[in-house]
Amino acid sequence: MNGRFWARYAWTGALESGVLIDVRAGRIVSLRAGCAPGDAVVLDGLVIPGLANAHSHAFHRALRGATQLGGGTFWTWRETMYRVAAALTPDRYLELARAVYAEMALAGITCVGEFHYLHHAPGGVAYDDPNAMGEALIEAAAQAGIRITLLDTCYLSSGFGAAPDETQLRFTDGSGGAWAERVSGLKERGHARVGAAVHSVRAVPADQLGVVAAWAAQRNAPIHAHVSEQPAENEGCLAAYGVTPTRLLADHGVLGPRATAVHATHLTPEDIALLGGSATTVCMCPTTERDLADGIGPAREVQAAGSPLSLGSDSQAVIDLFEEARAVELNERLRTRRRGHWTADALLRAATADGHASLGWPEAGRLKAGALADLVTVSLDSVRTAGPLHGAETAVFAATSADVSDVVAGGRVIVRHGVHQLVPDVAGALRQALAWPGERQLC
Ligand SMILES: [Zn+2]
Repeated sequence: MNGRFWARYAWTGALESGVLIDVRAGRIVSLRAGCAPGDAVVLDGLVIPGLANAHSHAFHRALRGATQLGGGTFWTWRETMYRVAAALTPDRYLELARAVYAEMALAGITCVGEFHYLHHAPGGVAYDDPNAMGEALIEAAAQAGIRITLLDTCYLSSGFGAAPDETQLRFTDGSGGAWAERVSGLKERGHARVGAAVHSVRAVPADQLGVVAAWAAQRNAPIHAHVSEQPAENEGCLAAYGVTPTRLLADHGVLGPRATAVHATHLTPEDIALLGGSATTVCMCPTTERDLADGIGPAREVQAAGSPLSLGSDSQAVIDLFEEARAVELNERLRTRRRGHWTADALLRAATADGHASLGWPEAGRLKAGALADLVTVSLDSVRTAGPLHGAETAVFAATSADVSDVVAGGRVIVRHGVHQLVPDVAGALRQALAWPGERQLC
């Protein structure tokens, strides 16, 4: 897509004003500050790069609100999540994911990392196209106008050698080799790339980890894994293998610059050194981690050790990357009773450039010549953002996703004045996707 945009303000690492942005074939070819708009499309607010949602399970959107009754833990929440998973077909998943990705687009997200493990029909039977569920997600992203990295997830056991239960039969391919064969059938396209994921050390036996790592290495593809979200996972891993989950992943070649450890909440000092020393990205999902009572991960420590930070909406309890970003700093304040651990610039970099890199899109997430033309406008005249502009601080610490007014993805306008241009009624699409007439609700 070609075009010319004018940003009243733009965050290019620094704050600039009156920025003309020329776009050719979906990429930024030039940015010039101090210009008048002329005939350019006016982006009237603070323009930041497209946001990368580095960890998503689209179908968890069905749980929003429904899991807030009563108490429980991560494990009781998972039972409800499994009931939703059991009800999905490829057609239903397309409808639901299209609506969820449209919600993400309205929030300024131009790329989603979908950690996808719901592969097969009930009972574990392969669909005619064994990648029908993954294809539904790729199509959903196209219909919502955003990019996707399908992180196709290997999920083989119920936990340290236990056989999959009935719901989990839909997740498993039986072996790492069968997983690799199926995933190799997925084709990348303009808006979609394919990466690998290890669900967790609970769900992938140690002797299969290397198969997934080798598949990703061969393709230079991203590889993600849930790591140490719960103390019980650490205890199970120590009992089964005598090492922590991070050590196990390191020993089987999973960690490295293409790798992302999701959550990384309960780490030892050695784990932190392994993640940082291997330049593994750590993806934190603070709104999910607080929703599930997981705990607060050592974000500062892993970054100081060498790990870039990325951010994800994970369980979709909230879809708002500004909220994820500020929660990283605010959680540290609560834990340490001191302020100023993360700058707004660093948090915005995590939500943009570093998030995109962790999803295998290093050419996205920056406002500079040569980058993909993903432009997100944060309105500066809402009740939250009106007043003096403070650059990244306004976006990270004052704005919410409701302040995103315009979204350009690859030079194409997908949200204009708060209205999605491809899915005009996103709330209606969500309502319809979450309650099919004449049938039981998803949750
Ligand atoms: Zn997750």
